[in-house]
Amino acid sequence: MARRMNQSGFDMSIVERITTPFYYYDMDLLQATLDQINHLTAGLPCCVHYALKANSNAHIISKISSSGLGCDLVSGGEIKAALEAGFLPQQMTFSGVGKTDWEIELGLNHEIGCFNVESVPELDIINQLAGTMGKTARVALRVNPDIDAHTHKFITTGTANDKFGISIESLPLVVKHARHLSNIHLRGLHFHIGSQITSMQPYVDLCKVINNLLDHFHQSGIDFEMINVGGGLGIDYLHPDTNAIPDFKTYFKTFGEHLKLRPNQMLHFELGRSIVGQCGTLIARVVFVKETCGKKFVILDAGMTDLIRPALYGAYHEIQNLSSSGGPTETYDIVGPVCESTDVFARARQLPVTSRGDIIAIRSAGAYGESMASRYNMRPLPGCIFSSET
Ligand SMILES: *Cc1c(COP(=O)(O)O)cnc(C)c1O
Repeated sequence: MARRMNQSGFDMSIVERITTPFYYYDMDLLQATLDQINHLTAGLPCCVHYALKANSNAHIISKISSSGLGCDLVSGGEIKAALEAGFLPQQMTFSGVGKTDWEIELGLNHEIGCFNVESVPELDIINQLAGTMGKTARVALRVNPDIDAHTHKFITTGTANDKFGISIESLPLVVKHARHLSNIHLRGLHFHIGSQITSMQPYVDLCKVINNLLDHFHQSGIDFEMINVGGGLGIDYLHPDTNAIPDFKTYFKTFGEHLKLRPNQMLHFELGRSIVGQCGTLIARVVFVKETCGKKFVILDAGMTDLIRPALYGAYHEIQNLSSSGGPTETYDIVGPVCESTDVFARARQLPVTSRGDIIAIRSAGAYGESMASRYNMRPLPGCIFSSET
């Protein structure tokens, strides 16, 4: 079949073979992103874990596991998906404030690398379940460093108001407690301050907090074997093509320069969005173009059930009309079909004059897109297709 490429290199024949809406994944970009991470961290005492919740598509996570990264998981379902994708249990960490017994047991059974523990009750239950199973649980304590990541209030996680982690004030007692539990092996400390962080300052602040803690514990004769600084590195939603790969170099360098690790201490990263965000595009079709009260609406067959970020956080995504080759533009609100007034992808956006049947691309949708899809309104889940299959 002759390929019909639109101006941004997208093979338009795909939309004749698969029902819209669907996610299109650029697997070459994903590979280039993984190569960049592996290149920058080669030989350093650190390991990078992929936060599966950003995108748990089986094909995507298999690719990430074959590149050698570990993974960060937040549910029993994610542990199962990660095992199926070939991630090694010793390279798995399990985070989350509300781990249930079966999820903890699943992790213990597979002897995962680390439980990121968020409270004393959780620590005690893990110790108890590990004892019953004759296992030792490897654990890091999640610390709330009370740092404002200057990101959207719904995705900041490291301030005193958030539900996550153990406060710095109570940490020394919790460390002491953990070291006395017979089925717990305390490996280190875990931090995660938020998501879509685009300035290095919050990370510099985090390094200072960690350095102080490491000094404090060192004076009490405690040196941890690992420090986990979480994830949160942002992507450029405004320029998905010019900044397709985030600035990992500056990110890793920031920790290299500001964090004073002790000899033999391993540094762990847990990156989600920055690994998969730019490789995914949501492809939709225009159902109707409608005009009311002097406003023009482009109504898509994709909605908040396929990509909830605009409705949930007011998030910005670049939107392109792939059917159009330029010409005059028009101002539109671009909306979905779901019966909720927040089902809006963008307001007052300039697009080439758009009509029914046109193919629309919503860019930078690889992270927290497909993995947050729902069946609200009894809509089918979005499909997916990969560039290597086209
Ligand atoms: C969500 C999450 C991450 C990944 O966050 P990104 O912003 O996608 O990089 C890392 N660690 C923990 C504990 C998380 O909950």
